Amino acid sequence: MLDINKIRADFPILSKKVNGKPLVYFDNGATSQKPQVVIDAISKYYQEINANIHRGVHTLSQLATDAYEASRGKIQNHINAKFAHEVLFTSGTTHGINLVTNGFASILKPGDEVLVSALEHHSNIVPWQMLCEKTGAILRVIPMNQEGELIMSEYDKLLSDKTKVVTVNHISNALGTVNPIKYMIDEAHKFGAAVLIDGAQAVPHLKPDVQELDCDFYAFSGHKMCGPTGTGILYGKEAWLNKLPPYQGGGEMIKEVTFEKTTYAELPHKFEAGTPNIAGGIVLGTAVDYMNEIGFENIQNQELELLRYGTQRLLEIEGLKIFGTAKEKTSVISFNIEGIHPYDIGTIIDKLGIAVRTGHHCAQPIMNFFCIPGTIRASFAFYNTKEEIDVMVEAVKKAQLMLS
Ligand SMILES: *Cc1c(COP(=O)(O)O)cnc(C)c1O
Repeated sequence: MLDINKIRADFPILSKKVNGKPLVYFDNGATSQKPQVVIDAISKYYQEINANIHRGVHTLSQLATDAYEASRGKIQNHINAKFAHEVLFTSGTTHGINLVTNGFASILKPGDEVLVSALEHHSNIVPWQMLCEKTGAILRVIPMNQEGELIMSEYDKLLSDKTKVVTVNHISNALGTVNPIKYMIDEAHKFGAAVLIDGAQAVPHLKPDVQELDCDFYAFSGHKMCGPTGTGILYGKEAWLNKLPPYQGGGEMIKEVTFEKTTYAELPHKFEAGTPNIAGGIVLGTAVDYMNEIGFENIQNQELELLRYGTQRLLEIEGLKIFGTAKEKTSVISFNIEGIHPYDIGTIIDKLGIAVRTGHHCAQPIMNFFCIPGTIRASFAFYNTKEEIDVMVEAVKKAQLMLS
């Protein structure tokens, strides 16, 4: 079992007061808090080894380059990628997905199909729509049921020789559904389609194994897994990354430049134009180390217990409805209270120090499916406690009394 008090002491922000009340931070789905080791590693980088990477022969540049590449290696191990050059540093999930959709612009033909799930975040919908507009490819949607689970029999029917790409999140940010991605990847591959997994909500809770999954791309953000903002990873299979054209042109991504013709650098540099977020990339490795030290099994046990307890406590509230009741679910509870706008509840409980997200959670199609404007979303991390859930439940009851 985790020593929660010891873990909480790693996160300075958790002992802060907000609006005069102890902070209860349940907006982990939007971004996680950062442990002291991560905060310290950022200043250590700037204090001790700051230099541009891959360019200078001087000592600091070498130290910074080594640290950056060591971090890439750590992340390669963490997700079990076959090669380090399959691990691209990005600014986040959104950047990773756009890198892929940009590349597919030169591959897709009119009439080709892209399958996207009904459970996606806007950042895994809009880039594909833009790609389809550009290429004449057709976007098709894998539907979900009332529990917020994708319907696999419908998915099977949508797959055909026309399917070129399937894109789906590992875990839904709005409902917490864990999707059967292994099955979906295997079925897509029978038709030769590439599969992109949006892992933004998965990496805070589990350790993905990209070789076992056999996905073609796996995108995630650092800031949702205890790392700095503006960091992320796009894993891509070597063969795909060699096939896709570069995303951005600039320094670092070239082999040779003349005004007549430029040749591109080898992987991973082909996709890493310009000076990257060097400190962020290095410190993402620190965050990965921190989470592995805590252990993903411990993290999951704690979070599933919070999910169970939170669900049970919230359902005590009259008129409260939970959206997203999938059998496979992570520690996200999206709910509404009859007759009350989610925003009003969020505003009142914020005054009591509780941070939840209200709104459509960048997933308007899901809200449209349930015919609601939005939900209140409490998303728990391993450093949250049952006592905090009790505080939230009391606050929601208070808000309900005030508003009805
Ligand atoms: C947060 C999130 C994104 C976008 O991540 P950014 O860090 O904003 O680029 C994409 N998909 C899902 C499922 C998310 O939760």
